[in-house]
Amino acid sequence: MSAPASMPDWYQQGLPHIWLPYSQMKTASAPLAAQSTHGSHITLTDERTLVDGVAAWWTACHGYNHPYIRQAVMKQLETMPHVMFGGMVHEPALRLASRLCALLPGDLERVFFTDSGSVAVEVAMKMAIQYRLNKGEHQRTKMLAFRGGYHGDTLATMAVCDPEEGMHHLYGSALAEHVIAPLPVDETSTRAFMDLLARHAHELAGIIMEPLVQGAGGMLFHAPQVLRTVRAAADQHDVLLILDEIFTGFGRTGTLFACEQAGITPDIITLSKALTGGTMALAATVARRHVFEAFWADNPDHALMHGPTFMANPLACACANASLDLFEAEPRLEQVAAINALMTEALEPCRTLPGVRDVRTLGAIGVVELDRIANPDALRQQLIAHGAWIRPFRNIVYLTPAFTISEQDLLFLCRTIHTVLAA
Ligand SMILES: *Cc1c(COP(=O)(O)O)cnc(C)c1O
Repeated sequence: MSAPASMPDWYQQGLPHIWLPYSQMKTASAPLAAQSTHGSHITLTDERTLVDGVAAWWTACHGYNHPYIRQAVMKQLETMPHVMFGGMVHEPALRLASRLCALLPGDLERVFFTDSGSVAVEVAMKMAIQYRLNKGEHQRTKMLAFRGGYHGDTLATMAVCDPEEGMHHLYGSALAEHVIAPLPVDETSTRAFMDLLARHAHELAGIIMEPLVQGAGGMLFHAPQVLRTVRAAADQHDVLLILDEIFTGFGRTGTLFACEQAGITPDIITLSKALTGGTMALAATVARRHVFEAFWADNPDHALMHGPTFMANPLACACANASLDLFEAEPRLEQVAAINALMTEALEPCRTLPGVRDVRTLGAIGVVELDRIANPDALRQQLIAHGAWIRPFRNIVYLTPAFTISEQDLLFLCRTIHTVLAA
């Protein structure tokens, strides 16, 4: 990877010092140079503007630079950009905690803030494990996770990702061993899941899954019934259910939270990505009352031992509160329904293209699945050449636009996918 000569100074000087995500630094194309963002548009330093189909890794649900969120951050910046959260609390965090609990189903009522999705999942796993330890059950330290799942990139979370996609082979014995089951989507997989659960329940602290959509695993959808099956099985074996709604939370699947569509409540839920409307890093792990009660004791060893330096950052919490205001003030879920209708129609012509295996949509997620993508990087460059910011991975080309995207921009993205795949 080397900097094209036309790039600005900061790019030329900085690129040799930066390490980019998921990239073979030697062979990957040089990254684009972003200058500014607005709504669903990203403007590059060479003055090209791209229509964004990804919403900054599924986060910017109100579009970029929403003036209301910007105003909330500026106001918070004046009074208190940050303060530690140990032995001290502040209005943005406590307001946000009570609002999240009011929106979440059931008695999900205790919020632990962190600053990234992976860490929120690690905290959920620690909660589930210590829940058992505090009850004197020292053998129940493993998780049951599902094939196709994705829960983060840290060492602990990689171990509950899909074994093949989650790079287990690359890290081998560095990863903890958990129980990986097929999602119970039909009779055979349900039997396999139930067998594994029965066999391992004595050593399990929790079951972890992404509800309705396995995102980074390839935008794989499953029916709400699957969630009900897992909830009932978790109850039957007295295992905590952790739902990772880091991707699905805040309207992406058509309801504010995906678990609503199955009418179930997890014991622990993790949130991040769209929590701040994609403006700042923030994540939350929310536990039900009975989970929290296992930590409520005179024994100091029964306390949850975790505390990120920047937890509950006031600027990030102000963003998240502003984002929730926008969900109340503007018709986000109706916009998601309209996006779904438009994408369903506009992506349909892709179905008959050679090499296309499936076209599917759920909420504001549109997916064209191919038999294989020989070179995702080259495909991305073609999409960019047309003016679309879309990041194909594995064997899929997908859209997760901002909920505020215009009909015109969304049609452009869908048609560009068709044009590029047809060529
Ligand atoms: C993105 C994602 C994570 C990890 O979040 P980071 O902020 O990247 O650490 C975990 N779980 C799911 C379902 C995700 O989509």
